[in-house]
Amino acid sequence: MTHRLVVVGHGMVGHRLVDRLRALDTEHAWRITIVAEEHHPAYDRVSLSSYLDGKSKSDLTLAGADLLNDPRVDLLLACPVVSVDRTARTVRTAHGERIPYDALVVATGSRPFVPPVPGRDLTGCFVYRTFDDLDALCAAARPGRPGVVVGGGLLGLEAANALRLLGMHPHIVETAPHLMPAQLDTGAAQVLHRHIAGLGLRAHCATATASIEAGADGRVRAVTLSNGMVLEADVVVFAAGIRPRDELAATMGLARAERGGIVVDPLCRTADQRIWAIGECAAVNGRCYGLVAPGYRMADSVAGQLMGQSPEPFNGTDSSTTLKLLDVRIATFGTVHPDDAAVEAVFTEGTDRYAKLLLSQDSGDLLGGILAGETGSWTSIRSLVGRRPPADLEQLLLP
Ligand SMILES: Cc1cc2nc3c(=O)[nH]c(=O)nc-3n(C[C@H](O)[C@H](O)[C@H](O)COP(=O)(O)OP(=O)(O)OC[C@H]3O[C@@H](n4cnc5c(N)ncnc54)[C@H](O)[C@@H]3O)c2cc1C
Repeated sequence: MTHRLVVVGHGMVGHRLVDRLRALDTEHAWRITIVAEEHHPAYDRVSLSSYLDGKSKSDLTLAGADLLNDPRVDLLLACPVVSVDRTARTVRTAHGERIPYDALVVATGSRPFVPPVPGRDLTGCFVYRTFDDLDALCAAARPGRPGVVVGGGLLGLEAANALRLLGMHPHIVETAPHLMPAQLDTGAAQVLHRHIAGLGLRAHCATATASIEAGADGRVRAVTLSNGMVLEADVVVFAAGIRPRDELAATMGLARAERGGIVVDPLCRTADQRIWAIGECAAVNGRCYGLVAPGYRMADSVAGQLMGQSPEPFNGTDSSTTLKLLDVRIATFGTVHPDDAAVEAVFTEGTDRYAKLLLSQDSGDLLGGILAGETGSWTSIRSLVGRRPPADLEQLLLP
């Protein structure tokens, strides 16, 4: 007998689930309907910035002809799901269609967080998440003119680089004392700040965006900071974090976590045994994950469950990161913020290279670290987490 699977959202994680299930389902037990809000089939959002650097939409697509021509799969684009009726076991789309399911997987991702700043709705304000966002930004960009990015984390740096690629002069506004505050300490941030200043990016840290001002034409003209500074700007890009798109939980009568996200157990199951949530919209044990690798693990687990396999529970993830743009080498792995049980070992070489490792005070085992300026040892050093690192650390980190 054929079962009906409905997947809500065709982003990176929804796509991974469908891919994995198609591979496992050799007997064609599942008929899959993907209901997607965007106009484009799933694409590589992680590499979205390369769209401004010469890559095309088809270069970045994840959905090949094998998926689009698979008779087991129906892909409905530009078709947001607005509610779920758990009793009738149907999802309803914005076009009024009702689609029945035996199993439902919600993979609706996140939306950019836009802080409640006066002027945030003015023409010239953008977010940075989809092809459509980047198309709109490209259309508004004015080469040679200044732009402001609100948020100095990984995404803010990507957005600032995007403005740079569009010929604009970017400012970055960050409330923390330095850029990438979630990943870096002061020493590593200094390497980053020096590097991006050399590229013409201007960082304004320890201050907030107080308001966005309009010109006589009603478009963005300037950004006023809480320290009183006024930055001239033709565009503003918000890159100040994300919020899980968990709104379907309310229509399903299912729980949302305190900080957002559809509540699921470590197997990504909601309280309804026919419904799973995966990727950035899922709160596993109360926590959402804003990276693609944990989402892929969730997708693989649910594909296995749909095929009757006994899956591995999801128990958190390695939060290693690398900055993939701006030609500066920055990488982190394991725990980067020390607590009382950790000791720090810092290595520097001039002003351009910095490395810090965190070691357990009791055992001397490696807990995590930050590399800035030189990251050649990243792969080898992160494999040592949980073990005693070698004695010639300095040679390994800053060869
Ligand atoms: C510029 C950028 C750079 C990034 N770089 C990295 C990186 O280097 N490393 C990393 O790990 N992660 C990175 N990320 C994050 C990564 O892209 C996400 O973790 C990943 O895309 C999450 O996949 P997802 O399927 O959960 O969500 P998404 O990819 O956002 O997909 C969710 C999809 O669901 C759709 N949807 C939402 N609601 C509905 C509805 N009601 N009905 C139908 N469809 C709906 C959305 O439109 C969207 O298409 C980056 C993100 C961006 C924007």
